[in-house]
Amino acid sequence: MAATTADGMRPQGLPPAAEITAPGRLPDAPGALVCVLTGGAAGDAERTAEAGPTVESVIARWRAARAARRVILAAPRSFCAGVDRAIEIVERALALHRAPVYVRKQIVHNRHVVADLAARGAVFVDELDEVPPGAVTVFSAHGVSPAVRAAAAERDLRVIDATCPLVTKVHSEVRRFAGRGDTVVLIGHAGHEEVEGTLGEAPERTVLVENLQDVARLDVPDGARVSYLMQTTLAADEAADVVAALSDRFPEVTGPDSDDICYASTNRQRAVVELARLADLVLVIGSANSSNSVRLVELAERLGTQARLIDGASEIDLDWLDGRHVVGVTAGASAPEARVEEVIEHLAELGPVSRSEVRVAVETVDFLLPKELRGTDVPHEPESEAPHEHR
Ligand code: SF4
Repeated sequence: MAATTADGMRPQGLPPAAEITAPGRLPDAPGALVCVLTGGAAGDAERTAEAGPTVESVIARWRAARAARRVILAAPRSFCAGVDRAIEIVERALALHRAPVYVRKQIVHNRHVVADLAARGAVFVDELDEVPPGAVTVFSAHGVSPAVRAAAAERDLRVIDATCPLVTKVHSEVRRFAGRGDTVVLIGHAGHEEVEGTLGEAPERTVLVENLQDVARLDVPDGARVSYLMQTTLAADEAADVVAALSDRFPEVTGPDSDDICYASTNRQRAVVELARLADLVLVIGSANSSNSVRLVELAERLGTQARLIDGASEIDLDWLDGRHVVGVTAGASAPEARVEEVIEHLAELGPVSRSEVRVAVETVDFLLPKELRGTDVPHEPESEAPHEHR
């Protein structure tokens, strides 16, 4: 049978007819092939049914997804100044010291960025005991606790610190608030690397709260000596609710002098609010462990617009596009701009695309590199050379 449509086109992702072994049925394809055929992650009942999806059903879904669309891009989107800097630090360290350069944890939470740097000689490790003594070691953008710094010194590692300066600011606030005798309430997500590092500054005086229930359960030695700080990538609206609850329980609570939620998270959230207003589907490009990207999805959904987190165009499910003619696209602060272009190209394969942008801010923030890397050269590489808005 011909695996083509009436207009003679082969549906996106459909294999050549020669690969189809039974009339009306797809071959016994491995999950990955079924995933490609259906344009998204395998898992829906239809695609995992024993018989597999029929060619007709795949074509029907592809037809349903075909349409002329408006794509609205959020701005700002993609790399922030802290991510730009962290990637550049690894690139320059590789140029200066040659591979391998060890990196504790993912330098930023994006699998494309990590894969690109790994291919160029960066070795990502979970803990410092995996690093040979004396080796060049980069700390990720999310920051580390004093205990990790001490462990690095014990191993005589040559450390280059890629902690975002805005995370460093929160660390110094913890030290200041704890130093004056406060109980420091850190609003953040348990287990996130940034939170682990921040908690480690004064573990005996810092408590983590994730939500309103945690605030209600708080038990502090002196309610008149409480201060709060935040993870830099929180959703501003949710964090404000938690701060309000803290103020209700501890009227004398004090916060940071300036917002802990960073400019990049704030701007990307403001832009996604506009996307949610204008679009009937919001695609957020980012990895599943990217806190700021996940917050963008949640925010759009709270505003009543379907939103999906994708690491790239291959994760777009055709079913999401059925009946949706205005698609908002943004990228978290750790997702390369190149992935945005791929998503637009992917949508253009399903019909004509008109493209516009909603900009809520112009970002001009730029952070200095660590002293030891200033004046060094960075080799040209495609992934990290994706267009940057604020370089
Ligand atoms: S998201 Fe904010 S805190 Fe995190 S690296 Fe970017 S600028 Fe720094």
